[in-house]
Amino acid sequence: MTLTETIRIERTPHSRLAETDFQNLEFGKYISDHMAISDFKSGSWGPLSIMPFGELRMTPAILALHYGQAIFEGMKAFRTVDGRVNIFRPKKHHERINKSLERMCMPALPWDLFIQSLRTLIDLDREWVPKTEGSSLYIRPLVFASESRLGVKVSEQYKYVLMTSPVGPYYNKPFRLKVEDHYVRTAEGGPGYAKCAGNYGGAFYPTQVAKEEGFDQVLWTDSKEHKYIDEVGMMNVMFVMDGKLVTPQLYTAILDGVTRDSILTVAREMGLQTEEKRISVEELEEGFRSGKLTEAFGCGTAAVVAPITGIRIHDNDYKLGTPGPESIQGRIKQKLLNIRTGAENDVHHWNYLI
Ligand SMILES: *Cc1c(COP(=O)(O)O)cnc(C)c1O
Repeated sequence: MTLTETIRIERTPHSRLAETDFQNLEFGKYISDHMAISDFKSGSWGPLSIMPFGELRMTPAILALHYGQAIFEGMKAFRTVDGRVNIFRPKKHHERINKSLERMCMPALPWDLFIQSLRTLIDLDREWVPKTEGSSLYIRPLVFASESRLGVKVSEQYKYVLMTSPVGPYYNKPFRLKVEDHYVRTAEGGPGYAKCAGNYGGAFYPTQVAKEEGFDQVLWTDSKEHKYIDEVGMMNVMFVMDGKLVTPQLYTAILDGVTRDSILTVAREMGLQTEEKRISVEELEEGFRSGKLTEAFGCGTAAVVAPITGIRIHDNDYKLGTPGPESIQGRIKQKLLNIRTGAENDVHHWNYLI
């Protein structure tokens, strides 16, 4: 029996397409008509169902709400120049979903189930993939512990839910950051490399404090010494130093971003030198002082590239100009978009066309 034969599809009688303003797509505001669901029980994942997006019935005793077994992904699908729909790097996202699941003692999601859910749901809600340049369909896979029980334990039941949301071009208001030297997002050996819900919950407070101080985000540093740069907000971070693209090397406190990996790859193809290494706060400061540091940006699926124009390091404010389309980050962003929309050759087979 193949998975396709076991998919149950219940279509919505009331599409919300007509009432969705595709000219003003606020990030995550509109959720497409359908969702895909599979339940894990008695040691295996059950058949996939597609149903109208809406409420789920569950008790307030589900383990995810109490003990935090909840992980998610963030990926995108794009309209190609010839009108098809392209899911960007589903394999890499699938590998990461399973790393996150493993770290949280949750069962792996089989590739067949994952890709079938993506194909079927996105094909059914194909009209929700925006057509304007720079827009895309944001895809949110979620897995959470659904067993209803109060005792502290690893759940024996889970729910996988896949939902999507049309999103417009991300207008990147340049970021002003502060180097965080008190709070931490995660620590070496912690779940920082997993996309688990708690990492976000724990980061809200330090971010709120930074916002009250007039910053947009925090530049996270390592938990032991606050000496090395880890990430920015909930994105990976990159710098252009001496014309070279540098980014913190991965360890357990850094999330292995798909955008980070894609950017490093296309940058090398564009003839840029790249380096993954520990980057100290001191080195950043020195880069600002000497003028060797010319660009800084966050990178992630949602924003792709988010320019950083100011960083407070201890008591000093350092500034960078607003990057134009000819900047390194501007050119990288455009190249990535070209690959995703099929305007440029997909030499790495990142695109999954449906
Ligand atoms: C999702 C995420 C990123 C970016 O990963 P992408 O795969 O590029 O979207 C970076 N850092 C954190 C903490 C994240 O949760």
